[in-house]
Amino acid sequence: MANLVVTVDTEEEGLWGGRYPRTGLSVDNIEGIPRFQEICERYGVRPTYLVDAAIVESDRAVEILEPLAREGRCEIGTHVHPWCNPPFEEPNNTYHSYLHNLSPELQYAKIEWLTERIAERFGERPRSFRAGRYGASGATVEALAKHGYLVDSSVTPFQDHSRDGGPDFRSASWTPYRVGRDDILRPVSEGLLWEVPVSVGYTVADFQAADRRRNWAMKSPWRRLRAVGILDRLGLARRVKFCPEQASASDLRRLVDAYLANGAPVMVMMLHSSSLTAGTSPYTPDEAGLERLLTTLESTLSYCTRERKMSPARLVDLDGTPPEIPTLPVVQSQFDSQHSTQPSSKQAQNRMK
Ligand SMILES: [Zn+2]
Repeated sequence: MANLVVTVDTEEEGLWGGRYPRTGLSVDNIEGIPRFQEICERYGVRPTYLVDAAIVESDRAVEILEPLAREGRCEIGTHVHPWCNPPFEEPNNTYHSYLHNLSPELQYAKIEWLTERIAERFGERPRSFRAGRYGASGATVEALAKHGYLVDSSVTPFQDHSRDGGPDFRSASWTPYRVGRDDILRPVSEGLLWEVPVSVGYTVADFQAADRRRNWAMKSPWRRLRAVGILDRLGLARRVKFCPEQASASDLRRLVDAYLANGAPVMVMMLHSSSLTAGTSPYTPDEAGLERLLTTLESTLSYCTRERKMSPARLVDLDGTPPEIPTLPVVQSQFDSQHSTQPSSKQAQNRMK
């Protein structure tokens, strides 16, 4: 039975303008967590909240998250945004917003700062990690292992973030693997920890063929002919990230079907905490956008757990033998197996392009 992991990059709002402020950060979006948590719990899901510096420094955020962690209703992991995570030795610019572009020593120091702060604030050391903007490398893996981390989830297969200095994950595995210090893309039999990629794939099960078609279409002159859009509409090369912010419920279902058809042992959903309140992310610009996102989320959780019988887990549970897990009551919701297709938030998608 495949596992379902729901992860939330839990962080300040206002990061969509290409600026990386160190101070004056607002985390009002944390008020959206209780409603999100309630939706997750209807399906037995205990989310993994990957929290950043702004969250650990907010008393209100800790007030909301700490009881959930203490009661075993979620996992608190780590999310380093280098630009607002001490110590500050690097220039404040786009290139250095990627953790893996910093020296191994500075990566280590930033991870150490946040790890210790989380342990202080939540009473338990974090074991799971995702780098802000997915900026992780072998050096990041080594620093994580030294701090006792068991799982990293920074890799987004089929995606290339290198345009402004980010990592190129186009050749990454979409299934979990042991990873070492030399190359975050290379599975090694021993490894220092688990790499559990965010689930990205295609709406057809033959990911490699779909990826080849997409890459072919991206090349000139085919790009000018809008070949990518045509293939996308035909469903022959529609790439989908397992993220209710960026995909419709129907595309998320197709992605789930494709992953399961390929025998995937786990799927990792991701979203941003800033999308859990209205007006704090381009994906949820207003109340209607927020409702759309939560509807897409709930129908996807319903499909995964009730129709596809996926078993909810936290990131940390994927490291070998799962720890003793208290069972959450699964309560009935408005969603049944038929209620599943919602339009995606085109407005939010277009803004992000
Ligand atoms: Zn982030």
